[in-house]
Amino acid sequence: TEVLLRNTEKLVYAGEVAVSIAHEIRNPLTTIKGMIQLSGKDSKLLHYDLIMSELERMNVIISDFMILGKPKEVRFSEEYSSTIIREVLSIFQIHADINGISIVSEIIQDEQVKCDRNQLKQVFLNILRNAMEALPLGGEIYISLDIEGSFQRIRIADNGEGMTPEVLSRIGKPFYTTKSDGNGLGMMIVNNIVASHHGRVNITSEIDKGTTVAILLPIR
Ligand code: ADP
Ligand code: MG
Repeated sequence: TEVLLRNTEKLVYAGEVAVSIAHEIRNPLTTIKGMIQLSGKDSKLLHYDLIMSELERMNVIISDFMILGKPKEVRFSEEYSSTIIREVLSIFQIHADINGISIVSEIIQDEQVKCDRNQLKQVFLNILRNAMEALPLGGEIYISLDIEGSFQRIRIADNGEGMTPEVLSRIGKPFYTTKSDGNGLGMMIVNNIVASHHGRVNITSEIDKGTTVAILLPIR
């Protein structure tokens, strides 16, 4: 147990360092972007679009990482997860429509959970994004809410490409991605936030059949 504890402490410390580095990098990055944007207008700069899109990529990685930093304003309140799902869908639905993906949600049981609303939104958004990226045109996402023991369970299932056991075992490790344009931080953030809510993440997946991500959050 002691070794385990020490490793966890090291990991938390490494995370804090990473987050403060992310903060420090953000400012000069913003400056560089601004300068390039200005000089790009005279179009004297070669590869303007490529440089801008790479800078944007850095920006996204940094923002994703900063979410891990203990946000100053973590506010826990009693919420129905259906409310949070509804809010997330109001942002996400348009992306699903564009990609020809239908979303069905079913509330079987819904109890209040103690949570930080914004952090939970981030969790569901990251999972939905992955589901969408695993789906072809005409794919489906099924969301269901029910109770499992003393937990509220939120399941997000897709009938997309699925994962090999190898991918499944590595999912959530920092920077682990199988996508050419992925950053491999989405599921790490999910794990972190759910852990800070004393919850659990269960993933089942079968290649060419699809993936189900279950989030379990304690009810009082
Ligand atoms: P990213 O989406 O940037 O690759 P994530 O941490 O969100 O990073 O996901 C890590 C990897 O897990 C993905 O690259 C993908 O291989 C796999 N994955 C996650 N969700 C799904 C899903 N719903 N279906 C298939 N593979 C998935
Ligand atoms: Mg992702």
